[in-house]
Amino acid sequence: MERIAIVGGGTGGTVLANRLADELQTEIENGDVEVRLITADENHVYKPTFLYIPFGKKTVEDAKRPIKELVDRRVSLTIDEVVDIDTDGKRLSLADGPALAYDQLTVATGANLEPETVPGLVEGGHHFYGPDGAEQLRDELAQFTDGHLVLSVIGVPHMCPAAPVEFVLMVDDWLRERGLRDDVEITYTYPINRTHGIQSIADWATDLFDERDIGYETFFNVDEVDPEAEVIETLEGSELSYDLLVAIPPHGGTDLVTDAGLGDDGWVDVDRNTLEATAAEDVYAIGDAADVPTSKAGSVAHYEADVVADRIASQARGAVPTATYSGKTVCFLEAGMDEATFIEFEYGDEPFVREPSKHLHWAKLGYNESYWLTARGLL
Ligand SMILES: Cc1cc2nc3c(=O)[nH]c(=O)nc-3n(C[C@H](O)[C@H](O)[C@H](O)COP(=O)(O)OP(=O)(O)OC[C@H]3O[C@@H](n4cnc5c(N)ncnc54)[C@H](O)[C@@H]3O)c2cc1C
Repeated sequence: MERIAIVGGGTGGTVLANRLADELQTEIENGDVEVRLITADENHVYKPTFLYIPFGKKTVEDAKRPIKELVDRRVSLTIDEVVDIDTDGKRLSLADGPALAYDQLTVATGANLEPETVPGLVEGGHHFYGPDGAEQLRDELAQFTDGHLVLSVIGVPHMCPAAPVEFVLMVDDWLRERGLRDDVEITYTYPINRTHGIQSIADWATDLFDERDIGYETFFNVDEVDPEAEVIETLEGSELSYDLLVAIPPHGGTDLVTDAGLGDDGWVDVDRNTLEATAAEDVYAIGDAADVPTSKAGSVAHYEADVVADRIASQARGAVPTATYSGKTVCFLEAGMDEATFIEFEYGDEPFVREPSKHLHWAKLGYNESYWLTARGLL
């Protein structure tokens, strides 16, 4: 029997498991193939929901569903943490259960937040990148009526490169709706010499920031935060005072990947088109865990999962895999509380940023609702 293992039941791992169950249904039913998803959390979490929690538009409960409800019945599901990957012996060690052997492995373990790597950030900053952080920020924002709100992008790469710009444009609009905007100064900071890593998004965001009286500082690399004095100190030697700091914390991969020799900093080194690991045979990586030159975004994880499903299904049938990933990425960006834009691009492309509209905002909200069908492999 061909044993196909997937580690991580987030966007990438869930879409991949369901695609494989569909593509290989005959082989699975005949007992020739097993598709096994091993994931640490019994809930599947849809992280884009977190953007709406600080504004009271969504809750943490809205962001999660039991993984067993999303996975095809032909997928073998193991709720456990993988603590070691032995790529020579082709074995996975689990925190609780017995070790599992595999023939084909896909690593889809996502990205982790590492706020503790910046002195003072845990005590002095808020974020909306995880469920607890998003709820705490909601409570802070509800009471924030005047002062200096700073959104600081501290670490790159981070999940959803657009989300910090979206947050700033949304908070500007939200404060205007509540009649508080004149009492709140907003500043956005970014580590490189423009407001976003992608030039066309930087141009678009900078124009909107100017229009809406949102300040910005570039080449702003946070060294430490002084929570008592409410001051950010940078590697460039500057200081910025805040009353409410919303930070995008540094991100990292997982030690599991580094310890397995699959890549540095917890990201898996892969061929950017085939998504095969460069350091081991019969190992793929998808989603945030894969070190490819595009965004750490759910759409990337989804398109990569389609490609890897095609490749693994071909291999399971004894055919040469030919599907490749072109870097396809799509993203809706909120431009306020009721307008959004949309971009799409592949490796090397400069995305075109469309004029924001209410229609695109509703399309983003509609996509977020239909995500639960996407994860099941139905869209
Ligand atoms: C605020 C915010 C807004 C966002 N907005 C958007 C957006 O609008 N559009 C977009 O495309 N993307 C967006 N993203 C990014 C998107 O959520 C991620 O890129 C996507 O979830 C990545 O999918 P993944 O499968 O790689 O990882 P994840 O979805 O993070 O899943 C990883 C899974 O692996 C499991 N796992 C980890 N380690 C182990 C282990 N050792 N053993 C077993 N299981 C393990 C975890 O429990 C988890 O289930 C946003 C992210 C945030 C934080």
